[in-house]
Order: sequence, then C-alpha cells, then structure tokens
Amino acid sequence: MTLNQYIRDIQDFPKEGVVFKDITPLLANPKAVRECMALLMNNLKDRKIDKVVGVESRGFFFATLIAYELGVGFVPVRKPKKLPFDTISASYELEYGTDTLEVHTDAIKPGDRVLIHDDVLATGGTVKAVCELVEKLGGEIVQCNFLMELSFLHGRDKISKQEVYAPLVY
Ligand code: 5GP
Repeated sequence: MTLNQYIRDIQDFPKEGVVFKDITPLLANPKAVRECMALLMNNLKDRKIDKVVGVESRGFFFATLIAYELGVGFVPVRKPKKLPFDTISASYELEYGTDTLEVHTDAIKPGDRVLIHDDVLATGGTVKAVCELVEKLGGEIVQCNFLMELSFLHGRDKISKQEVYAPLVY
C-alpha cells in the first residue's frame, strides 16, 4: 500500500464542486501514521526547532507527534474564542467573507525557531494567517510543513518567502 491509498477523496465536501482529501483512514492505520512520521521527521533533522505550531483541527494530529518526536513544545492555533488565555488574532479571506485564527500571546517567545504544520496546503490563506501570528510574536519560521499539498491551488505563492515541505503532492 502507498500512503495515497489511505487518503480518501470525498466528492462535494464541504460544498459542491470540492473534492475533499479525507485523512481519517490514514489516522486509523498505525503503519501509515508511522510512514508519514518518517517522511516528516526525515526532513526535520538538525533544524534546531523550538516550537511546533499546529493548526486547528486536523493539523493537531501530526503537529503533536512531530513536537513529541523533536522533544519540543506544541502550540495550538485555534478558531476564535477557543483559547482561554490572552490571544492575538489574524484574519484571512475566504471565498465568501473572512475567517480568523488565534494563538496565546505567551506561546512563542521572540527568537523562537518555529515549525508550522497543517494537514493540507490548499489556497494558502490559512497558513499565511498562521505565519502572521508567529511573526507578530517574534518567532522565526523555519518551515511550513504539510502532509499534502494541493499544488493546483498554488497555495505556495501566498507564502513565497517561506520554506514549504509536503511529502504528498496532488
Ligand atoms: P487553505 O487555507 O490553504 O485554502 O486551506 C487549508 C486548510 O483547510 C487546512 O487547515 C486544511 O485542514 C483544510 N483543507 C482544505 N482542503 C482540504 C482537503 O481537501 N482535505 C483536508 N483534510 N483538509 C483540507
């Protein structure tokens, strides 16, 4: 089995015309999770990372595993009003309207070397907002790291100054 076989295409989710890459079969398979981790970790050796930022909610799975493997802290970036302490926020454009993400003000210290992880890079709006949050707190972004990149949506163009890594590209 290749990793692709654990990623299921769901037609018209969350709305008509969208083909959603569902990673739940992959998460349910420990062998596939280990294989993903090997790919992700191989790329992160000797990068001197202080914090791993994971994006709500599917980004949390591998971000916490990566942080654990690296022996560094995990930082959640969440939807508005989910984090209990003081936060800063960044907004980004959706097809209709805007969305906002938040992070705790004490989660990243100036000079921290930060890895950002999410499951999928699509249009890049989400990760761009996460980069803004990290940089507002004085963090230095080492890499934007994804399990999958939907390259036909050109999300990389929104974060052109960042290093981008995604082992699975569609
Ligand atoms: P973007 O902001 O790059 O357009 O979208 C990325 C965000 O939307 C990520 O947080 C990701 O979890 C979610 N996302 C967008 N498309 C997909 C998809 O096909 N599959 C999964 N699992 N998540 C997606």
